[in-house]
Amino acid sequence: MTTAFGPTPFGQSTVLGYPRIGANRELKNAVEAYWAGRMNAAELEAVAGVLRAEVWRTLQNARLDAVPSNTFSYYDHVLDTAVAVGAVPQRFTRLGLSDLDTYFAMARGVDAEPALELTKWFDTNYHYLVPEISPETVFAADPAKALQEYTEAAELGIMTRPVLVGPATFLLLAKGEDPFARLDELVAVYADILRQLAKAGVAWVQLDEPAYVADRTADEIDALRRAYATLGELEQRPRIFVATYFGELGDALPALLDTPIEALGLDLVAGEGNLAGLAAAGPLRDKTIVAGLVDGHNIWRTDLRAAVAAGATVAGLADHVSVSTSCSLLHVPVDLSVETHLDPDLYARLAFARQKVDEVVLLGKGLRDGTAHLPDPLPPIPASWRHDDVRARLAALTPADRQRGTYTERAAVQQARLGLPDLPTTTIGSFPQTGELRKARAAFKKGELDEAGYTERMKAEIEHVIRLQEQLGLDVLVHGEPERNDMVQYFGDQLDGFGTTEFGWVQSYGSRCVRPPIIYGDVARKAAMTVSWSVFAQSLTGKPVKGMLTGPVTILAWSFVRNDQPRADTADQVALALRDECHDLEAAGITVIQVDEPALRETLPLRKADQKAYLDWAVGSFRLATSGVADDTQIHTHLCYSEFGEIITAIDALDADVTSIEASRSKMEVLDDLAAIGYSRGVGPGVWDIHSPRVPSHDEVVSSLRRAVDAVPARRLWVNPDCGLKTRGYPEVEASLKRLVAAAAVVRGN
Ligand code: GLN
Ligand code: ZN
Repeated sequence: MTTAFGPTPFGQSTVLGYPRIGANRELKNAVEAYWAGRMNAAELEAVAGVLRAEVWRTLQNARLDAVPSNTFSYYDHVLDTAVAVGAVPQRFTRLGLSDLDTYFAMARGVDAEPALELTKWFDTNYHYLVPEISPETVFAADPAKALQEYTEAAELGIMTRPVLVGPATFLLLAKGEDPFARLDELVAVYADILRQLAKAGVAWVQLDEPAYVADRTADEIDALRRAYATLGELEQRPRIFVATYFGELGDALPALLDTPIEALGLDLVAGEGNLAGLAAAGPLRDKTIVAGLVDGHNIWRTDLRAAVAAGATVAGLADHVSVSTSCSLLHVPVDLSVETHLDPDLYARLAFARQKVDEVVLLGKGLRDGTAHLPDPLPPIPASWRHDDVRARLAALTPADRQRGTYTERAAVQQARLGLPDLPTTTIGSFPQTGELRKARAAFKKGELDEAGYTERMKAEIEHVIRLQEQLGLDVLVHGEPERNDMVQYFGDQLDGFGTTEFGWVQSYGSRCVRPPIIYGDVARKAAMTVSWSVFAQSLTGKPVKGMLTGPVTILAWSFVRNDQPRADTADQVALALRDECHDLEAAGITVIQVDEPALRETLPLRKADQKAYLDWAVGSFRLATSGVADDTQIHTHLCYSEFGEIITAIDALDADVTSIEASRSKMEVLDDLAAIGYSRGVGPGVWDIHSPRVPSHDEVVSSLRRAVDAVPARRLWVNPDCGLKTRGYPEVEASLKRLVAAAAVVRGN
């Protein structure tokens, strides 16, 4: 051992975090059982203890040198950090609940208090709870959870490195009146936490500062430097490892190296420029660079030889180099080895969390001993994954393939064909997914219900939904999407180039897990995917029924995507499949097609400089999917948020005939934003917030619509809910839609 704060033995290999849900989603089941009153707090805690021990043992048995702790969470690690610094809003403390129930009240809300806001964790599909900082917030150190986990692991003989969200990122993610202004105060509390950790024997602590891979002001970077200068100068503290991930650190890199921290973690997968940044920073004496060489955000095996070479470059710049994952392994499934049904060629190319730990260990060894012991490089991609026809089509595309006729002409022929009233009423696509529907889908999957029986069941549901909409008097109908469990999986299951895991669950938020499809090869449509359902629905009514597709950008955003070609190319392959589907829907007599892009904003790059290139290909792919139809086929799109900010011109550029958007919470403000950029096509601002079971009042809907007609002429204004109705119950759906139709009639003046 060297002396404290000198060159320090960080270890050759580590991971920034590990999945906490358990190999079989044990945590989800236990937490939900606790919420339902089927498990008590002690039983829940016992399950959690077993899961934590399992993770530490797994990491240690894999011969990982440095094992993290405090990466477990009952719900979310940002919420855990809020508790650790005393940022529990009074509106929750005054409920007088136990600590655990106060925690869950913040996460999920209680009757009397809505939950903290939930939002996306950088460019991942993980969602964190936004800390609420107000003048009444009194920061105070409460590192009980970190200490408890450290002690638990120590009792197993495993010395761990507690992980916390760093103070600067914590405040940058928080909401309230200028939370960042309180950094000095919060740093003092972190100092207190570090002292307590040191006292308990903690040798290293990991403070995560991913907020600095996004654009930051010079003041924010300066504040970061000051924060770590202060923490670095503490007399009693563990060694400090500042982890950054999801991109390039830019100017924050030299700022952090300028402080007394002992180790700095850099993402060398998503942040290629970090290597150049390191080189520019000059010789790094006394610092350990933790090189994030194994992708924690995607499921592909690492090119180990290339990674060793990158690691060697870092080793040439810094005194010490350690190997790590690029970010926490939270974002990938737990273990590949249980996937016995995957195509062997695909299996051979994948690495989930457990396998990525092995890669990190191998790389650590590779840096020390050379590459001789590394397993063979990956074989080339199997020829059967290629679709030369799709590649030829893509190569032959011209700008005309992404361009429809002018909107004025389209609008005229569409109106002549559809004959819709002003303020046409519609919904976003799904109708309530009843337990019975889910059972039928599951039985069909298991083979307990045959295809004919399943089709009959779905058709009965579609007929029910169509009759209901006719009865309610809606103008443009939907089939209700009863056959879809998930709007991306449904298409992934039917397209070539997509794989599905059996157990590949990833935490999305709290107890909610998703199982993203894997796009591994060229994407091709084998057969029509939605046409028979839409055609059946249309056969039941004289009103137009919308064909319903998920857009290429959203399909990519909610899948694990191949990394051997640009995402733009993969998106265009998906777009071609959707273009063919649009064509078939149109040929089968469907006059309105909606292509949903709720994730368009989600995968927006963190740095402004990268955003234009993304938006260009994203918009281009959507247009490729939707531009093959005739002018008199009406294309709708749906977006699931109202803060458009930097993407408003991109939304305009999608060139959809009608765009439905979330708006009820933001009181129609989005219409002014659209008007400001000269948006001139159809728009349906949501007038019913479907995230709540509340039925909007008649007056409320009327006044929203009156506000809307001030900004958008009635001929272009659509009346619809904020989003799909999948999670709602029939009683509130019927009551609310009745209000929408009635309010539209009032505002039309009939
Ligand atoms: N058409 C989908 C639905 O109604 C859209 C869902 C979404 O926007 N996320 O369920
Ligand atoms: Zn939506």
